[in-house]
Amino acid sequence: MIAAPVTETALQALRRHIREMTRSCPAKRSYGCETAARSAARYAIQSGRQNCPPRLWVYPGTSCRGWHMTKRANRDPAVTSAQIREGIA
Ligand SMILES: [Zn+2]
Repeated sequence: MIAAPVTETALQALRRHIREMTRSCPAKRSYGCETAARSAARYAIQSGRQNCPPRLWVYPGTSCRGWHMTKRANRDPAVTSAQIREGIA
């Protein structure tokens, strides 16, 4: 954690830290590695739960050491019910 200015109280520092954490890592489940996130995403798709689209993507958290899943497409291969890396494996 970056040192806070001396004028910042402990409570302010804590609030700032929480704000920074939640900005890029909303209260979402995270997984320990990319493969774990992809496997969980495939399971979610296979479960056929409502609101689960046929494709999901994963991305590394910028404020945590975990991986998250998202419905928003990114440059990486999608996860589908058949493959954790669509078109690759
Ligand atoms: Zn995160």
